[in-house]
Amino acid sequence: MRSPVWHPFTQHGLGEAIPQVVAAQGAWLECADGTRLLDGIASWWVITHGHCEPRIAAAIAAQAAQLDQMIFAGYTHPQAEALARSLVELAPAGLDHVFFSDSGSTAVEVALKMALGHWHNRGEARHRILVMEHSYHGDTIGAMSVGARGIFNRAYEPLLFDVATVPFPTEDAGQACLDTLEALCSGQQKPAAFIVEPLVLGAGGMLIYSPEMLRATREICAQHDVLFIADEVMTGWGRTGTLFACNQAGISPDILCLAKGMTGGAVPLAATMASEAIFDSHRSRDRARMFFHSSSFTANAICCAAANANIKIWHEGEVAGRIATLGAALDEGLASLAGLRGLGNARRIGGIAAIDLDVCDGGYLSDVAPALRAQALAQGLLLRPLGNTIYLMPPYCTTRAEIVRAFAVIGQAIEALPG
Ligand SMILES: *Cc1c(COP(=O)(O)O)cnc(C)c1O
Repeated sequence: MRSPVWHPFTQHGLGEAIPQVVAAQGAWLECADGTRLLDGIASWWVITHGHCEPRIAAAIAAQAAQLDQMIFAGYTHPQAEALARSLVELAPAGLDHVFFSDSGSTAVEVALKMALGHWHNRGEARHRILVMEHSYHGDTIGAMSVGARGIFNRAYEPLLFDVATVPFPTEDAGQACLDTLEALCSGQQKPAAFIVEPLVLGAGGMLIYSPEMLRATREICAQHDVLFIADEVMTGWGRTGTLFACNQAGISPDILCLAKGMTGGAVPLAATMASEAIFDSHRSRDRARMFFHSSSFTANAICCAAANANIKIWHEGEVAGRIATLGAALDEGLASLAGLRGLGNARRIGGIAAIDLDVCDGGYLSDVAPALRAQALAQGLLLRPLGNTIYLMPPYCTTRAEIVRAFAVIGQAIEALPG
C-alpha cells in the first residue's frame, strides 16, 4: 500500500525509495531491512553529540514521567527556569531574556516580531529588515521573507515582505558588504533590524565568512542603532567549533535564535534570547504592549529537560575537544579528494566540511545532488548535497575511521557520476 505520508522537500512523483529507519545510535541509523547508514549530515543538522545520547535519553524518560506539557502563559516549571538561567550564562553577554518556542523557523519569527514590537512600542516607524545574500532562516512565511528568494519559495513570493539585501562577504566582496550595510543603516528609511547567520550560511551552500567580517557588520548596526539578530539555529551548540559562532567574533547580538542542537537534537525546542532594551520596550503596566506570541508547546517540560541534559554534557568540558578531533578528520578527508577532477573551494569550519562540484547546472534542482545522494545511500552513507555543494556535518561522536570511509564513499559517488 502507498504511504499517506507527505515528506518535506521531497518530490513524490519521482518514485524514489524512502528508506524506513527503525533505530539510531551514535553516528548511525539502522533501517528496517537491517542496513546501517552513517549519518553524514547529523539528521539535517540537529544531532550534536550523537543519536540516543544516554544522558539525554534518560532525562527525557524521567521528565516524561514527572511533568510533560503545561501552559506556559502565566505558569512556569523548574526545567524551564533552570534552562533559561543556563542559557543566559552561556550566551554572549547582554542576552538576559529567553523566549521559548519549538522550531528554528519559529525562533526567527519570534525574533522578527520582537524587533518590530520593540520599535512599535517606542513609537518609531521602523519596519524594514536587512538580510544577507544567500541566507536561509526557515520555511514559514516570515522566515522565508528574510531568506534568499529562489525556486523553493517562488509560489509564495507575492506574500513575502520586502527586505533589503547586503552582498555575501566573499574575500573580494567584504568591503561591498560593509558599504551596503552602512548605506542601508544610514539611509532615509531607518531599518528595524539586520538578521544574519553568523560565520556560515547553511542552506545557502555552506558559505563561510570571517569572524572579522561578522564583527564589522555588528559594529555598523550598533553605530546606527539597528537591531542585530544572530540566527544560530544551525551554527549554535558547537557546530562551528565554539559553543556559538558569535563567540569567534567576540560579539553579542541584540537577539539570538537557537534551536536544532539545543536538546542535542533529540527533541524539538527553540529559544529566542533578547537584550534588556528589547524586553523593556515590551514591559509596561499597559497590557497592549505585551509580547503577543505563543506556540502550544512553548517550553515543553520534556524538551527543556533534554536541553538541560545537553548543557550538562557541555559543562563536562569534552565537547569542544571532540569537535576539534572531528575537524582534523574532516580536513584529512577533504585533502583525500584533492585528486578528483571538477572539485573546488574545499572549506571547513568546526564540524562542517564542504566542497563544490564544477557542473554546468549547479542550482538547487541540479540532477547531480539526487544522483550523489542515491550513490552514497547505496554505500551506507546518508548525504544530502545542496545543489552542487557536497558537505558533511556529522555528529561529534563520529570517529576518524568513519570519516575516512565517508570520504571514500563521496569520492566513489563523484567518480560514478555520468560525464
Ligand atoms: C534550519 C534552520 C532554520 C529553521 O529551523 P527549523 O527548525 O527547521 O524550522 C532557521 N535558520 C537556520 C540558519 C537554519 O539552518
